[in-house]
Amino acid sequence: MQLLQKSALIKGIYVPSLNNKIEREVLQEINAFQIPHRQIVNVNKNQKKIFQNNFLLEINRGCPFQCKFCISSFHNSPFRNRSYENIINIIEDEIKMVNFKSVTLIGSCISAHPKFYEICKYLISKGLKITIPSIRLEHVNQKIIKIFEKANINTITIAPETGSEDLRFELGKKISNDTILSIANQIKDSSIRNIKFYFLIGLPNEKEENIMELISLLKKISDLGFNKNTLRVNINPFVPKFNTPYEKKIEFFLDKNYYTFRTKFKILEQNLRKIPSIKIKFQDVKKIIKNARFQALLSLGDLEISTLLNNYYFYGANFGALRKVQNDMRFDMNEYFSKIQSGYHPWNI
Ligand code: SF4
Repeated sequence: MQLLQKSALIKGIYVPSLNNKIEREVLQEINAFQIPHRQIVNVNKNQKKIFQNNFLLEINRGCPFQCKFCISSFHNSPFRNRSYENIINIIEDEIKMVNFKSVTLIGSCISAHPKFYEICKYLISKGLKITIPSIRLEHVNQKIIKIFEKANINTITIAPETGSEDLRFELGKKISNDTILSIANQIKDSSIRNIKFYFLIGLPNEKEENIMELISLLKKISDLGFNKNTLRVNINPFVPKFNTPYEKKIEFFLDKNYYTFRTKFKILEQNLRKIPSIKIKFQDVKKIIKNARFQALLSLGDLEISTLLNNYYFYGANFGALRKVQNDMRFDMNEYFSKIQSGYHPWNI
């Protein structure tokens, strides 16, 4: 108890049992934050080793763009970059100590680092493989494509989020479909084989015609002449995140909109299956929506939800457990989401 009480006095630490008031604590100078020399790796022989021999290096935190749905940007604000010199020193030190062949650059928006190109160039000069998350669309240009080719990168990941320009502009990505097509064309003409896309379904104010715009955009990209399975498409339900401008945009998770939401996935599946250059995994739509609803609950739940989560875990942490716990506690997710939509604010942080 003494430990909890003392912890609650530290700025930025919340102790649920004391429900103490907290103020957000921010690490202003990320250069001062050391990267662990020895990082956790998976040694299980039977499992895929994604991070084996792979050094994880955070180059920035926060994001200058602040797309309205993005928790990573709002929770990690302000935007801060690790200095180029610091990054080089870390790698130089690492090379002396640990045998790694590849570096994964980490950050909400790594391509917004002012020295992103130079960092890639340096890693190539050291003979290291580079793994990168998605690249902000504005940052994909000939210079970046060329350096990725030099690094033998096979896949560029971009996130247009939607096929509708109106919705995309509204959420903070002011990039036209023509620009996306031009970017895709430049990638097609390079030695980079695949493009991975991230899209969201169920964005605020989204209509059925916006789903058709997504299909049309992907068809146009495919018509540029991509080979079979080279356009890797990920479509996920939009999950509203607490403390973002879209935190109350929960309408597609309300029971009354369930079938509209489901239909959107079905339309996408029917149309995208026919395009040979598109590789997409379609799972059970019911399960996708159930998972997303649960994520929304995790994102927007208040203090009371902690009991529900504890019980959920206790009964096996699956959908059967969730149903049981909701019944036992007489908790109605739909009612809770409606409450959020009408203005209920679960936390004052
Ligand atoms: S560019 Fe990416 S990281 Fe930055 S706010 Fe938008 S979605 Fe988030």
